[in-house]
Parts: sequence; C-alpha cells; structure tokens
Amino acid sequence: MKNKKVLITAGPTKEYIDPVRFISNDSSGKMGYFLAEEAKKRGAKTILISGPVNVKPPKGIKVVKVVSALQMFQQVKKYFKQCDIFISCAAVGDYRAEKISKNKIKKTGKPIKLNLIPNPDILLSVVQEHKNIRTQESFVIGFSLETENLEENARAKLKKKKLDMIIANGVNTINSAKTTGAIITQNGIDKFKNIPKNILAEKIFDKLENFKTLS
Ligand code: C5P
Repeated sequence: MKNKKVLITAGPTKEYIDPVRFISNDSSGKMGYFLAEEAKKRGAKTILISGPVNVKPPKGIKVVKVVSALQMFQQVKKYFKQCDIFISCAAVGDYRAEKISKNKIKKTGKPIKLNLIPNPDILLSVVQEHKNIRTQESFVIGFSLETENLEENARAKLKKKKLDMIIANGVNTINSAKTTGAIITQNGIDKFKNIPKNILAEKIFDKLENFKTLS
C-alpha cells in the first residue's frame, strides 16, 4: 500500500432546511475513520472527506470537513483524480431542501410541506466520469446499508455503480462498535458476523493488498 493514494468519505451529510434545522442520516462515521487509520498504517497517503461526526481524526491524515452532500461532491471531484483507491463509506443524504429558508421557519401549529430535491449520487457520478479524467484505473469500493435483502441489493449496487467491491451491512451497524454483513466482489463473497469495525477495516485492506496492482 506504500505510495498509494487512498480517498475515503465518512459520516453523514447534513442538509439544512433553515439556519437551525436539517435532515440527515444516522451515521457515526466510525467505519470511515477506521478505514482511514488502516490505510495510513499500511503506508498509504490518505485523504478523508468527512461529514459532521464526533470522532477524533486519526493523526497524519488529511481531513477535509464538509457538511452537505453538494460540498462532499465538490471535494470528492477535487481529490478523486489523484487517487488509486476510493472508498465511499459516507451516508450521503439522498435529498436536500429545494430552498433553504434564510430565517427560522415559524411554528404555526399547521402542517407544512417540505420540498426535497435529489442530491447527486457522488459515487455513481465519479465512476461514470472516471474514464474521461483518469488514464489509470482506480479501485472503487462502496458501502450498502440495507434493511432487507442485504446481499441482493448490494450486488445490484455493485453492478449499477460499476464498483470493484461493496460492503453490505444491516441497520444494526448504525452507531454500533460492531458490524455484520458481507464483502462482495464480482467473483466472491466473504461474510462477517458481529466483528469490531476496526477488524472489518483490516479485512478490507487485506483483500485490497491481494489485488496485485494495489499491493
Ligand atoms: O445510498 P446507497 O445505498 O445507494 O449507497 C451506496 C453507496 O453509494 C455508498 O458507498 C455511498 O457512500 C454512495 N452514495 C453516494 N452519494 C449518494 C448516495 C450514496 O456517494 N447520494
């Protein structure tokens, strides 16, 4: 992993609707931070693009802090061109408010409507653009959090987003120190059960080092 450049996204994004309220995903950011620590341990030059989390950044890693999905997208586009491995671990908000109210929305006691518009799929976009902006192929990993049909849904995302690897896990991983799921590639599946997230980070990098071009 020495001299390789690894780009990782972590944590949730926050999509503000007014100066004090936002919609977000429930994500601690722990998994992404463990991945960044593991990448650094193995000698990779590591950049972590992080949404708002309460995790201490690992030492010796460049951390780029963002809030919204659009900000994360901007930063990923900036650094993706230079990376050998991209791990998209962030729980990116799929929607944002069409209009962010300048002032705090007043309570009227009546129902209100919130118009949400889709955010770009960061992972899908950079992979699609990938051919035009890189001469050399980069290795791309996604994460998939599912409430049902874990494997099937993750495999569909692997294919649709043209990923080299996807890590599928269940909702019980949210805010937990441990995780259960599977590492899925085109050629195989490796299931894991109730393992600490730092051990999953080790497993992922062990697999990466088995790919000749990445060792
Ligand atoms: O949300 P979904 O299940 O499609 O997420 C699968 C992968 O896509 C994850 O790796 C996530 O980081 C990424 N993603 C993204 N931008 C989005 C939604 C998801 O990069 N707007």
